Amino acid sequence: MVEHFSAQLTRIRQLSESTKEFRFQRTDDRLVQYDPGQFLRFTFCDNKGSFERSYSLGNFTDASESEMDLVVSAVPGGRASEYLFGCNHGVLAQVAGPYGRLVLPKKLPKRLFLIATSTGVAPFLTMLSILKADNVEVVLLFGVRNRSEFLYADELVTILKDWTNCTLQLCYSRNEAQLNHFENNGYVTKVLGGFKLDPGNDRFLICGNPNMVDDCFNELKLLGFSTREVVREKYLFASQTGGNGQADLSDDQKRLIAEKLLKHKS
Ligand SMILES: Cc1cc2nc3c(=O)[nH]c(=O)nc-3n(C[C@H](O)[C@H](O)[C@H](O)COP(=O)(O)OP(=O)(O)OC[C@H]3O[C@@H](n4cnc5c(N)ncnc54)[C@H](O)[C@@H]3O)c2cc1C
Repeated sequence: MVEHFSAQLTRIRQLSESTKEFRFQRTDDRLVQYDPGQFLRFTFCDNKGSFERSYSLGNFTDASESEMDLVVSAVPGGRASEYLFGCNHGVLAQVAGPYGRLVLPKKLPKRLFLIATSTGVAPFLTMLSILKADNVEVVLLFGVRNRSEFLYADELVTILKDWTNCTLQLCYSRNEAQLNHFENNGYVTKVLGGFKLDPGNDRFLICGNPNMVDDCFNELKLLGFSTREVVREKYLFASQTGGNGQADLSDDQKRLIAEKLLKHKS
């Protein structure tokens, strides 16, 4: 069920040159209800007014059940990027959610491919402990610009260490020298092409850059996969989701946000 609540920014961590993790805490301390993989709509308020952006829940490290970790990469000239990367602890946001169908299938498949670019890995982070506990065979294909953009490297290496059924393959769009066995130069589609895929047993969750999502799906369609086996989520920019991401808020909601912001500043 979709809920509406307010949340306060309590922690900011730099994950890589372009990416930060923003931790928001529900101001009513209630639990954040969601299925791993889902996203939330955040309404922020900058000096031009309120606006809305979607973010996957990326709780992977030590967030409590009333906290939300957002994994956000800065988009040059982007309104939310400028707001989030310039703000301090304590700012408030209105949150709505959870939304989205990028969730684990009810019956776990024989083999599950999780394919992400950059912050598109966030929804998969929330699924890993469940998949590990069930010892599901997982292939995580993770496309990033270069080695320094390998988000949550230590945490991922730790969780994968004794999970023999899980394969991680990193794909660098800007070539790196001296590759380890789990590193590749090129796009995720190149590595995907190296697997023997079977529409009867393999399932796919794909998230991140819209072009990557389309390229993977087109490749899979040629092999006989359809939307039944492949669930996709594209990280569209606000301009691509219709309108300019302007929040569709009632006058009451706008007044509430303004009051909360004023209270917080005083
Ligand atoms: C379901 C969903 C979940 C999401 N989850 C996450 C997440 O977990 N982490 C995350 O970082 N982002 C996520 N996003 C994207 C996020 O909602 C914002 O769009 C992103 O943070 C950029 O917002 P912005 O306001 O900074 O930039 P925007 O105002 O959206 O615009 C970005 C800038 O890019 C330019 N631009 C617009 N379209 C394009 C284009 N097609 N190609 C190149 N440039 C373009 C614009 O001119 C503008 O200067 C998600 C999106 C969706 C739809």
